[in-house]
Amino acid sequence: MARAEIGQRNEHILLLSTAPPNKRQKIFAAAVVVLLLVAMLLVAPFARNELEGTETLVLAYAAAALTTEFLTAALLLSLFAIQRSPAILVLAMAYVYSGLLAVPWAISFPGVLAQLGFSDAGQQTTAAIAAIRRIGCPLFLLTYALLRGSREVAPGELVPALIVGCIASVAATVVGVTWIIVENQDLLPRFTEDSGRITDLWMYVPGVALVLYALLVLLLGLFGRSVLDLWLTVVICALAIDLLLLSFISSGLRLSVGWWAGRLYSLTAASVVLMVLLAEAASLAARLARSMAAERRAHEARLVTLQAFSASIAHEINQPLASMVTNADAGLRWLARDRPDLDEAGAALARIARDGHRAGKVIEGIRATFSKGGQDHARLNLNLLIREMLDRYRDELRMAHVAVRTELDPNLPPVSVNRVQIEQVACNLVVNAIDAMRSVSGGQRVLLVRSAAPSGGEVLVSVGDSGTGLPPAYRDRLFEPFFTTKAGGLGVGLTVSHLILEAHRGRIWATENAPRGAIFHFTLPCDRDPGSSAEEAVT
Ligand code: ADP
Repeated sequence: MARAEIGQRNEHILLLSTAPPNKRQKIFAAAVVVLLLVAMLLVAPFARNELEGTETLVLAYAAAALTTEFLTAALLLSLFAIQRSPAILVLAMAYVYSGLLAVPWAISFPGVLAQLGFSDAGQQTTAAIAAIRRIGCPLFLLTYALLRGSREVAPGELVPALIVGCIASVAATVVGVTWIIVENQDLLPRFTEDSGRITDLWMYVPGVALVLYALLVLLLGLFGRSVLDLWLTVVICALAIDLLLLSFISSGLRLSVGWWAGRLYSLTAASVVLMVLLAEAASLAARLARSMAAERRAHEARLVTLQAFSASIAHEINQPLASMVTNADAGLRWLARDRPDLDEAGAALARIARDGHRAGKVIEGIRATFSKGGQDHARLNLNLLIREMLDRYRDELRMAHVAVRTELDPNLPPVSVNRVQIEQVACNLVVNAIDAMRSVSGGQRVLLVRSAAPSGGEVLVSVGDSGTGLPPAYRDRLFEPFFTTKAGGLGVGLTVSHLILEAHRGRIWATENAPRGAIFHFTLPCDRDPGSSAEEAVT
């Protein structure tokens, strides 16, 4: 299959944060940045006005920052539990790092401890903590930007340990760095004068931070792929404005209008991602509820169909069966006479044979309903049907952590089939594959859907999984009616698929997959009629 299209579908779009932003979202984000810039210009003329006695509000600001950043981190970690993307884990740690550092920053703020009746922490402590917070956060964000698109980390069962380990490491780093700063006042760079004004040395901090912010805007803003990247760009703009207000516009004058405006920008920056994630959680909950309701309805519909189907078979077959039993009894009676009446016994046997044929015709009729009316058939390209079907199941696949790969032959000839029925076959196989992989813990879950036109006027579709596989104990019973190994299974999916394919002059069978799992294959005769185009058939 040299020219086969090999498609990796690991990047399923399920979550707002991983979906690419649409035009409306981009315009909205740009409008927020413009609004932030306008607000900065409005504040600028008053930036150096001092707001004395506002030290107490520093603690309130720190509490708000801590709460917002921890909430954001918690939501990002729940996103990580679903996606297991290392980039999301690093981003969550950026918020944990920033939130934790807000505590020693606020406590060591000149005047705060004094108001609480303690002696102030050293002169340089607050600025040193602010500096490592300022530089550390963009470094986390850079790591996030570079890790985007990398593969999932660790199997699901290791996720909680990974999260706890990362939080503990960040917390230990914050405590350690704070301790070093508090204990080594003499060695700290002089970022502030005794009066509390910043020194020239401090200007390296906003300098380095602004370079990092510019790099991030480039990576996330220009080469961003998701809604999350878009809003992180807004966060960086808010942080950059905060820094401009703090270090340049208000000349580093603490507790001035510009300085406090900077705090508000920093709180805005902390809340932006939180809001995006909250919107995502709400939309996800709604989608889950919808999908569960749809699944329940589909299950009930299948049950009703099955009951009607079984009742009709029972009704149709019962008559010839009853007649066969009656004739067999009569035949036995003719034979049991003292002088067996062979003519009558022969006639009874003939009636049994006739009823047998009648029962066969009933079965034939049921089969025929699956291929009813050639007029229901449409020419279609199975590749399109496969893509549509995988798209429909993308949420389920994502939730089950199944990576989907496709190898679709671009030169696949069209088939002339009942689209609904063939779709049902394909869906049965995909749902069974997901179920089989769900029951296996550990190892990668991969669904590989292939299409090919091997030879002999047939197209071949294979659905391979890395699930439980097909134990020899029931390998031969898969297509038997009502055979199921699932607690809530009906055992008709494969039987119906078999009937549908038989009615289409196709075949279905299963083989073992390597290193584990099963592959279900089905074939359909190609449609050699050059008449119409097949492409539109599944649109
Ligand atoms: P149901 O899904 O309701 O059980 P099916 O007829 O679709 O009914 O499947 C019958 C049985 O075949 C399943 O219960 C399962 O044991 C087995 N089976 C089907 N698909 C797979 C698969 N991909 N891997 C392993 N076993 C499978």
